[in-house]
Amino acid sequence: MLRTFKVEKYHTDIVSKTTLFKVLKYLNKKNIKTPFLLIDREKVREKVSVIGQNIKNSVVFYAVKANPDIEIIKFVNKLGMGFEIASEGELKLLSSIGVKPERIISSNPVKSFKFLKMAASYGANYFAYDSTDEVDKLKRFLPGCNVYVRLSVPNEGSEWPLSKKFGVELDNAAGLLSYAKDRGLNPVGITFHVGSQCTNIYNWNTALDKAKALWDIAERKGIRLNLLNIGGGYPIKYTKNVIDVDAIDKNVNKLIYEKFPQNVRVFIEPGRAVVGDAGIFVTSVIGKAARADENWLYIDVGVFNGLMESVGGIKYTYLVETTRDTKQKKKWTITGPSCDSFDVIDKDVVLPEPDIEGLVLILSSGAYTISYASEFNGFAIPKTILI
Ligand SMILES: *Cc1c(COP(=O)(O)O)cnc(C)c1O
Repeated sequence: MLRTFKVEKYHTDIVSKTTLFKVLKYLNKKNIKTPFLLIDREKVREKVSVIGQNIKNSVVFYAVKANPDIEIIKFVNKLGMGFEIASEGELKLLSSIGVKPERIISSNPVKSFKFLKMAASYGANYFAYDSTDEVDKLKRFLPGCNVYVRLSVPNEGSEWPLSKKFGVELDNAAGLLSYAKDRGLNPVGITFHVGSQCTNIYNWNTALDKAKALWDIAERKGIRLNLLNIGGGYPIKYTKNVIDVDAIDKNVNKLIYEKFPQNVRVFIEPGRAVVGDAGIFVTSVIGKAARADENWLYIDVGVFNGLMESVGGIKYTYLVETTRDTKQKKKWTITGPSCDSFDVIDKDVVLPEPDIEGLVLILSSGAYTISYASEFNGFAIPKTILI
């Protein structure tokens, strides 16, 4: 069935033409029930080859929570990436495909007991922490393991800030490095997270300044660190342009070169940037309604089965299937299929009028979508298909 999409420049400004046209070609050939998520494997491959390329001595770990689909995990594994995980479920996934423990780290500063037990028997050996209680837990389950302390750093300009929940200030962090050493753990370094979807390049500068200050305090206390884990945060394009990975990495590399010892090891933990812009959600229009002066558009994926991040302010770009004049546009309130009023994805989205039963493509939706999805109200979790 030939689909009627009119691709405009604002679409190809957001997602690469090759990814978009690959998806459109696929949709013309296949007739699969919506909703589902298509992931362009070539785009993932391209992103993986770029991230960390400009950072000396770096090792890249995919943050599994961004999209834990087994096919993606297998693909990323083949590309040689390591993995950053937080839970027993994520570890189980990796063990099911035989990922070696040396390629697994966990930067969740507060880990469950179940996970610690499993990580110990699996042989994982790199962990983040930001409290004395966590050191005591690690000592119990993983005596002598390598640890890095999570420093709190500014998350301004990140659309998904994380700094409120995790990380400690300098003095506290310095004390925690000693505390870990005194209890027989091996304090190897420092980690931070600039916030997810970080569009402010200065967050990395501030974070590295702070990490450097901690590095020096540790040195004065007789703790020689060798690892800097710069977390994730690389942004992708949703509705506008962002700084690219290359520019961020070159800046980070320069700062590390200026401030830290030559042999420092660098860990990077990208999630969103690996799969986000490789993914396009394929959904269908299940209804339209005019209420007061609002045009409501109902699609078969919503806040509960994939688009959770819209609640936190992430805005997507849409490409709708329509047989009408695409020059005539209206403002739409886009909403999910469930009967909950919380299930509203976006407002004031300017689009041509979509056909009922027509497709709505949601660009750059490969990360933090399926991983959040539930079957609330009986709507299935969309499946992921690598193309
Ligand atoms: C979520 C997370 C990441 C990935 O962050 P992105 O912004 O998706 O790159 C990396 N490290 C830790 C500790 C995380 O919690």
